[in-house]
Amino acid sequence: MRLIDRNDTSLALALIASALVIFQQPLRVLVDAAHVVELRYNIDLLPGLTVLVGTFGFHQYRKRQQARAAEAAAASEAAVARARAVELERLVAFGRALGNALDPAAMRQVFWRYMPIFAGEREVWMLTRKPDGWESALRDATVQTPRPPDELEAIAASAMAHPDVETSEGDGLLVDDDLCFPLTVGDIAIGVVGVRHGRAVSSSERQALSAAAALLAIAIRNNQLLAQTRESSIRDSLTGCFNRACAMEALTAELQRAKRTRRSLSVLMFDIDEFKSVNDRFGHLTGDAILAAIGGRLASMLRATDVKCRYGGDEFLVILPDTALAGVEHVAAALLASVADLRVPAGAGSISPTVSVGVMTAAEGDVDPMSVVATADRALYRAKREGRTRYSATPLAPVV
Ligand code: GH3
Ligand code: MG
Repeated sequence: MRLIDRNDTSLALALIASALVIFQQPLRVLVDAAHVVELRYNIDLLPGLTVLVGTFGFHQYRKRQQARAAEAAAASEAAVARARAVELERLVAFGRALGNALDPAAMRQVFWRYMPIFAGEREVWMLTRKPDGWESALRDATVQTPRPPDELEAIAASAMAHPDVETSEGDGLLVDDDLCFPLTVGDIAIGVVGVRHGRAVSSSERQALSAAAALLAIAIRNNQLLAQTRESSIRDSLTGCFNRACAMEALTAELQRAKRTRRSLSVLMFDIDEFKSVNDRFGHLTGDAILAAIGGRLASMLRATDVKCRYGGDEFLVILPDTALAGVEHVAAALLASVADLRVPAGAGSISPTVSVGVMTAAEGDVDPMSVVATADRALYRAKREGRTRYSATPLAPVV
């Protein structure tokens, strides 16, 4: 512990002054003795001693200054290291939280929990790229002064088109007053994270934001790939309809629901007429175009709650919840008309496909999907046998 510190300077001066006063007699004797020595040996003892004491004092003062500067530098280095450690810890926590966010809603929650902290509580926003434009990661709580989406979209588009977009790693790009971090994985542009009043963002904050944006980009891309994989595992890419496995799962669930709610459930199964000869005449690409066009018709003409499936080859299955026989017959007639209305380019002209349809309504309490499909299939074969391009609600007798 220091007896005298910076605050006690006046006390120290008073002590020195009083010591000089108290010891002035012995000091005078000392000075006189020095004079005697100077005269006897013909030397300048007192000025020499004064220069020595002055230089020593100055030297000590310089050493103290240097020690203080080194102390201050060490303290500031320690503070920077502490801040870095906190930042790293936060980035690790952010990365972990993103890793556990397996859908867009969870991802948004993680974004709003961490990104405002990385942005120093400035306004932060994120837009992700969609095939037909941008999607904004809206905050669950109301933002105080939300900016119009088209303003943010214009900023994001400028950031993406910025000539320095490739070389800006770590620094972000200043677009007007927003500091933008384009989210990219490889050469795929995912979106943009922006921080308002970006001019005032310090370089260490920029680095943290840039690292957070990199983690975010990877997590969003993983989410997109996961969603694509899920989607392609349940959907047929050509027609946009669910696949057979998904159809059977949906039918099982809908039969259970119909039993529980005591509501009707109908199923419609249809198959393209003479499809093989279309393939043979115009090629499989034309056949594929017909399948895709029929998938499009199903999406546009049926209810969102109807489950549209490609059962296999040129055969489709549609599950119609809450629909009785009259309803499914009506849908079958509408489907025949809608498909006949299609014009699919083929060779030099176009062709209009036709379909044959079998419909059935599940008996009350029927929960066996296979028997439902078998009944609809037999009704479809009756329609084929009776001349095609029609629907039938009466199944052929089961083969025993
Ligand atoms: P029918 O009126 O009795 O149904 O006659 P069809 O010629 O349509 O006979 P069927 O339904 O048995 O023929 C199915 C044809 O569907 C055979 C196959 O070449 C064609 N096909 C199945 N899947 C595809 C596909 O993904 N693309 C194309 N282009 N054709 C397919
Ligand atoms: Mg067919």
